[in-house]
Amino acid sequence: MRTVRTAAELRSPRPDGSVGLVPTMGFLHEGHLSLIRRAAAENDTTVVSLFVNPKQFGEGEDLEGYPRDEARDAALAEEAGADVLFAPPLEEVYPPDFTSSVEVEGPLTTVLCGAGRPGHFKGVSTVVAKLFNMVGPDRAYFGQKDAQQLAVIRRMARDLNFPVEVIGCPIVREADGLAMSSRNAYLNNGERELASALSRAVATQNEADARTVLAEAGIEPEYIETFRPAEDEPAVLAVAARVGRARLIDNTIIGGKS
Ligand code: AMP
Repeated sequence: MRTVRTAAELRSPRPDGSVGLVPTMGFLHEGHLSLIRRAAAENDTTVVSLFVNPKQFGEGEDLEGYPRDEARDAALAEEAGADVLFAPPLEEVYPPDFTSSVEVEGPLTTVLCGAGRPGHFKGVSTVVAKLFNMVGPDRAYFGQKDAQQLAVIRRMARDLNFPVEVIGCPIVREADGLAMSSRNAYLNNGERELASALSRAVATQNEADARTVLAEAGIEPEYIETFRPAEDEPAVLAVAARVGRARLIDNTIIGGKS
C-alpha cells in the first residue's frame, strides 16, 4: 500500500483498471474495514481516503477532539486490501482561497441530521465531490450507518452526473448491537452499556416502540423519525441521541434486516 498526500500523486501513474474509493475520517473500525474489503473484492485498485473534514463539523462540535491515529489506520487499511491511502493535509483539500461548495438542497438535507447540524451535509457533499474528482473512482462505497449521508451522496452523484456507482453497505455492529463508530471511543463503560439502547430502539422498527426503549434507558433523542432516502427505496427508521459527549446515530431499513 502506498500513502499519498496530493491529488497529483493520485494520478501519477493513473491506475489501470477499475478504481474503488472508500472515503473515511479515519480511526478505522470493522465498519470501515467491511467497506474496504468489499471495494478490494470488486475493483482492481482500492483507494481509502483519510481526511477529517472541517467543513462538515459545526461550531462547538468535536472537530478538535475527533480521534486520529494514521499509523494504525494505515496498517488496518492495508490488511483489509487497500492499495492506496490518500491522506491529504488540510491545505491540499482546502487551499486558503477556497470558496466553492456543492449543496444538495431540499428535504433530503433539511430533516434529521440536517436539522440539528446546519451546514453538515453541505460540508459532506463538497468534500465527497472533491474526492470523486481527485480520485476518479468507478465505484464509491458508503455505509448504511449514515443512511441520510448515503442518500445525499446518491442524489449529488446523480444530479451532477458524476460517473461513479455509489454503493451502500450494511451496518456493522458490536456484539450487543451498538453500531460501530469512531465516536464510540468517547464513551466510558457506563455510557457504552447505555448506548446499546439506540440499536434496540431502531430494531423495534416502529417509532413509538423506539421512543419507549430510549425513554426506559433514560436517553433523550435528538430525533426518532422515519425517512425515505429515495422514492424507489424503503423507508428507514433513524435515531440520533447524545450519550455522554458522543452524538450517536443509528437506523434500520423498515422491513429489512440490518
Ligand atoms: P466516517 O469515518 O465516520 O466518516 O465513516 C466513513 C464511512 O464508513 C461512511 O460511509 C460510513 O457510513 C461508514 N461506516 C461508519 N460506521 C459504519 C458501520 N458501523 N457499518 C458500516 N459502515 C460504517
